[in-house]
Amino acid sequence: NSLIQRLEKAIVNVADFPKEGIQFKDITPVFLDPQLYRDVIKALADFSRGKVDAVCGIESRGYLFGIAVAMELNVPFILIRKQGKLPPPFVSEKYELEYGFAEIEMRQGQLQKGQRVLIHDDLLATGGTTQAAAKLVESQGAQVAQFSFLIALEFLQGQKRLEQFGAPIYNILNYQ
Ligand code: IMP
Repeated sequence: NSLIQRLEKAIVNVADFPKEGIQFKDITPVFLDPQLYRDVIKALADFSRGKVDAVCGIESRGYLFGIAVAMELNVPFILIRKQGKLPPPFVSEKYELEYGFAEIEMRQGQLQKGQRVLIHDDLLATGGTTQAAAKLVESQGAQVAQFSFLIALEFLQGQKRLEQFGAPIYNILNYQ
């Protein structure tokens, strides 16, 4: 079976979570299958090999894959966290949610000027979170080189919000 088929089979669709009308994709079964996890990491690492100098992962599921990809590529991993978790000095970026705002943060000084950065998360939905992460990366004088996700919910058109960064996007699964 192809990686796409195996991953699709592993992912559990949960209706009406976290809100009514939302179909949540639960990626946690990937970790019950070490061979699948390894193959996911390999696919993500193959996309980025030789093309990035650092990986930024988005809290919290972005860490589960991003850190393994960074280790495989032998490049630094930098955590992008939800507001209020990191000690200073840090930089932050506000972004709009369906209702209200959220903020993400990154330690200052961990990303170096000019570094080519992969921004990774488990899932691309509206793209708001990833767009804010990309702004954080650029604020440090680093270059957004690539984006990767296990899953893109293409019908939410998150890709459009990432176009401004001119970086290739890779996702293993697409939901149209
Ligand atoms: P966005 O900012 O709308 O693109 O939302 C993406 C963020 O929400 C990511 O950090 C995802 O982990 C999380 N997310 C949204 N929908 C799902 C889902 O169905 N399964 C898992 N994570 C989700």
